[in-house]
Amino acid sequence: MMTKRIFRAVLGISFVACLAGMSIAFTVLYSYFDGQLSKELKNEAEYLAVSLENYGTQVLEDLPESSERVTLIDTNGTVLFDNFFDPKTLDNHADREEIRQAMLTGSSKTVRNSDTFQKQTVYYALRLDDGKILRVSSTQYTIVAVMSGMVQPFLWITFSILMVVGLFAAHISHKIVEPLNQLDLEHPENNESYDELAPLLTKISWQQRTIREQLLAAKQKQEEFQMITDYMQEGLLLIDSGGEILSTNHSALKLLGVKPELQIFVGAHRENVLTLNRTEPFCRTVDAVLKGKRAETVLELDGSYYQMSANPVVTDGKVEGGVLLFVDITQQKQSETLRREFTANVSHELKTPLTSISGFAEIIKDGFVRPEDIPQFAGKIFEESQRLIALVGDIIKISQLDEDTLPYEKEAVDLYSLCQEIAKRLQSAAESKGIDFQVAGQSTIVSTVRKIADEVIYNLCDNAIKYNRPNGKVEVAVVGSSQKALVQVRDTGIGISAVDQRRVFERFYRVDKSHSKQIGGTGLGLSIVKHGAAYLGVQIGLESTEGLGSIFTLTWPRENDAPALEMKQD
Ligand code: ADP
Repeated sequence: MMTKRIFRAVLGISFVACLAGMSIAFTVLYSYFDGQLSKELKNEAEYLAVSLENYGTQVLEDLPESSERVTLIDTNGTVLFDNFFDPKTLDNHADREEIRQAMLTGSSKTVRNSDTFQKQTVYYALRLDDGKILRVSSTQYTIVAVMSGMVQPFLWITFSILMVVGLFAAHISHKIVEPLNQLDLEHPENNESYDELAPLLTKISWQQRTIREQLLAAKQKQEEFQMITDYMQEGLLLIDSGGEILSTNHSALKLLGVKPELQIFVGAHRENVLTLNRTEPFCRTVDAVLKGKRAETVLELDGSYYQMSANPVVTDGKVEGGVLLFVDITQQKQSETLRREFTANVSHELKTPLTSISGFAEIIKDGFVRPEDIPQFAGKIFEESQRLIALVGDIIKISQLDEDTLPYEKEAVDLYSLCQEIAKRLQSAAESKGIDFQVAGQSTIVSTVRKIADEVIYNLCDNAIKYNRPNGKVEVAVVGSSQKALVQVRDTGIGISAVDQRRVFERFYRVDKSHSKQIGGTGLGLSIVKHGAAYLGVQIGLESTEGLGSIFTLTWPRENDAPALEMKQD
């Protein structure tokens, strides 16, 4: 570009200079020759005049043949002599400009164009002493004619000059631009170029440094932001006013099911947020936020529930984009469902014994029962009431564990002596079924909440007796190591099938409903065990073979128990 401009400028200037030079030279030359001709005519007229005066008109007759026309005109304008034409054929010349002028002033010079513009005649008239006029004239080419004759050579010369100048200009322009082309803009200070460029190069260098610093700062900020957001469990998406994704974190991509190989930012191209999820609530929320409204919805993605909150980003009343936040509320949803189910189940479980009690009482009230049968009916009412009390007791326990706000403090508890205590309490129940109940192991101290640990182990032992065969066996083993403490409750009972093993810890789940009821089960025992264990941070294991028996294992971690152990030893 620059080379071209320099080339054109040099060529243009040369052309103009050429043109001007030639014109000036031509004009100077032409006026010089023009002046020369006039001078010659004048000189000749003056010589002739002297000769005429000295030697008479014979001089004219003796004039040598020449290119100049000599005319002698009488005072009245009659042509007396002409070396080109016969004077008789010539009309009176009194009206000719140069004659009139010469008559008045003594001499005159006139130029008249000939028939064509090609030639012009220059007349010089001189008044002789006797009043006659001597006129000498000569024809010459007009300036136009000379110029038109010179066009071709002029063009040739111009063309040749321009050719030479062109080569020269090309070379010069390349030479001027070359250092500019060779500038190393990556390292502006290292260039040795024109001095005039030094301030520019310094400025470029300074600007480059500023840009690098700014880029680095921006990159650092971006990395910090990405790091923070990537550690967030919540999904985060930033979109611009057109709905195109500006930034995301890992969680957002994961929960929206975007595969890592799917590039959502490719160069300047950014994916629209609606391509990530096309469900109606998602689109509606994005739509609302891009209109500047805050919006919330719940999305179901891959079996999990997410609360999607969308906040618009507004600057000067204009929506610039939006921030979309996704919070996993699956657990919340699940516990809500559980609670709903629990309430329904509780109502149902309470209703059955109450209906029985009400039924028996009604029969007695209406006098349909013989007096001798009343104790039996009263016994049934008592039984059902006991069930109700047990049920309500269990519900209270479960609710307390559920609340997670029990005010219990941990203490050093010897699991072995706790199990022995429980065995004592269950002794009569075991004996009534002819069950051999044994506690084995040794003193094992853990830091735990005694009341809840008691509840958990008691329930397991109670079940081991309840779901045992007559004359079966229950063995409680307490084992301790430096890392953990185990309480294992083994029975030789009916066992639990693999399918039921997964469900027995659910609230109100009973493998055989009528059998459980018959032996006074509420369906909440194992649920209390599960909640209690969770509260204590204890793991539950279950192994069981149908018809052979079950093994429930409680595992206490012991890393943090050292202070508790010391306490006990004191
Ligand atoms: P329930 O009050 O009916 O005993 P649980 O929650 O304690 O309720 O137990 C749930 C179900 O698990 C029981 O109905 C029973 O069928 C089964 N179960 C619990 N413990 C045992 C066991 N040791 N052996 C066999 N089945 C058991």
